[in-house]
Amino acid sequence: MVRASILLIYTGGTIGMKNDPSSGVLVPFDFNDLYDEFPYVRKLGVDIEAMTFKPIDSSNVTPSLWVTLARIIRDNYDSFDGFVILHGTDTMSYTASALSFMLDNLAKPVIFTGSQIPIGVMRTDGRENLITAIEIAASKNEDGQPIVPEVALYFQNRLLRANRTIKYSAEELNAFRSENYPPLAEVGVNIMYNRAFIHYHDTSLPFAIHTALEPDVMVVKIFPGMNENLLRSILAIEPVKGIVLETFGSGNAPTEKWFTRAIADTVGRGIPVMNVTQCVSGSVAMELYETGIRLQEAGVISGKDITTEAAVTKMMYVLGMGHDAAETNRLLGTSLRGEMTL
Ligand code: ASP
Repeated sequence: MVRASILLIYTGGTIGMKNDPSSGVLVPFDFNDLYDEFPYVRKLGVDIEAMTFKPIDSSNVTPSLWVTLARIIRDNYDSFDGFVILHGTDTMSYTASALSFMLDNLAKPVIFTGSQIPIGVMRTDGRENLITAIEIAASKNEDGQPIVPEVALYFQNRLLRANRTIKYSAEELNAFRSENYPPLAEVGVNIMYNRAFIHYHDTSLPFAIHTALEPDVMVVKIFPGMNENLLRSILAIEPVKGIVLETFGSGNAPTEKWFTRAIADTVGRGIPVMNVTQCVSGSVAMELYETGIRLQEAGVISGKDITTEAAVTKMMYVLGMGHDAAETNRLLGTSLRGEMTL
């Protein structure tokens, strides 16, 4: 049997840290020495090539990293069976969501992982996350096709659709959640794939990347007591091209006239406003209450059960295409990569 080949890309984050025995401090681990440090990785029977970035804490990630990653995947697409991206956990869901939109007609696995405890620390969660992520990226069906041709995130025994994830805990090793979509795989003694939930598209379509992203997108989280001056000032910030509005419950906001008017004026200026719930699970349903209906009438797009992470990156991606308002709104309200339940 031909061995699978995986490109392992280390961008930074906790997973890449180990103890320097001389100084006792945490220093970045060189993934080019993967086999020397972790000889058991050889036993996976997978050919791994590593690419190590100058490590950054993921709090410093910007869309330019997403463009770099998309280009690396494009340039190496035909040479590898799958890709594993090691990333800091803090913004992993943003990067992974962004990549899910930027990679068009993806037919190979792109698996993100990281860890809460450095890989060089005895009790690390990084070792298992790394090994299983590689194994998943290399896994093929009986017909030789990849089992997970998606951008996914593997963490603590569960493989999740990337654009459905949020970092949920700063403490638990089980740090990620996908509340609105079932796991693509659950890992115990065996890796149990939930194939019914994995997206298999027409593989004859050519793989392509989209790197034009509109960075001037903003999240506005409403709260009781938010006043008109504040809201109008935020919405009027000059470069803003799109707004993700984090609302209460099933997409509700104050029914006061000034609120609806401020939102309607923004939409009227050609700035799309997407309604996303502040709740971790469940969906926006603007038709349920008067507080949501007003937003609907103001031209707000329902984000349904999308995460804020996916909404922000989807807006950057869709606005980057430069379509007219009608097409932009249509795309924002449609599931493009399984990021929302329609
Ligand atoms: N601050 C780190 C990062 O996101 C945390 C981690 O990797 O878990 O880069």
